[in-house]
Amino acid sequence: MAPGSVLEPGSVALVGGGPGAADLMTVRALRLLGQADVVFYDRLAPTDELADWAPQARWVDVGKRPGHHRVPQERINRLLVSSARSGLRVVRLKGGDPFVFGRGSEEVAACREAGVPVSVVPGITSAVSVPAAAGIPVTARGLSSSFTVITGHDPLSERTLAGLAQLGGTTVVLMGVGTLGHTAAGLIRHGLAPDTPVALVERGCTPEQRVCIAPLEEIQLAAAVAGLASPAVLVIGEVVRVAPGAEQHLRELVRGT
Ligand code: SAH
Repeated sequence: MAPGSVLEPGSVALVGGGPGAADLMTVRALRLLGQADVVFYDRLAPTDELADWAPQARWVDVGKRPGHHRVPQERINRLLVSSARSGLRVVRLKGGDPFVFGRGSEEVAACREAGVPVSVVPGITSAVSVPAAAGIPVTARGLSSSFTVITGHDPLSERTLAGLAQLGGTTVVLMGVGTLGHTAAGLIRHGLAPDTPVALVERGCTPEQRVCIAPLEEIQLAAAVAGLASPAVLVIGEVVRVAPGAEQHLRELVRGT
């Protein structure tokens, strides 16, 4: 077994589950799930096949509780530590990559502070894989030589909006549906061209994937008309033109048809 593929009793592995498709899990993720005594999983992690991957384990949904409230982060941290201390092999299965938002570093810190051995298994992040599933490369020679991944959980500050508008590369916003209007208007106010192409990709890499493509100035309306909701990845920049059918979509919207 490769180093990192063994889960010792009394230890925790933070495992990236990728963007939601079962076959976008890593080999290491599946190996560790196969050794787990308990799996704490999130809403966005692929879980349909947990019964096959970890038939021996107890599965605990910490993404929501009856009444639809998330288990508070502090409590998740305590659950990881107490399970490991009681001698269990613990997998914490998270959506995408454990260290791209999602508070993975806090879980690692809690384990380290408690003296519990903890490892991190990278996962395929939605920041790159979800645009790709819609046919959009985050970089492309001649179109974009950088990409910035940012959370839209809270409205972007004026300073951040100004920086993104100046940068000239691709902007990828996670958790950005609720603040879409603020983001689009702010980028235009700070000088990004109103006809910059934008894509919103809902439930990327899954059978329910939906894509909405529109110029920056129209994306909020287009997304609302299409009824797009979270989880979705917002991609802003010239690379969106590479998506199949993008040019036609952008022309139609600009003509108002
Ligand atoms: N650690 C995760 C991100 C957690 S933040 C990762 O690396 O992918 C949660 C956000 O990720 C969601 O609000 C959404 O913006 C994005 N996301 C995750 N999976 C997604 C999917 N299959 N389709 C679209 N967006 C997704």
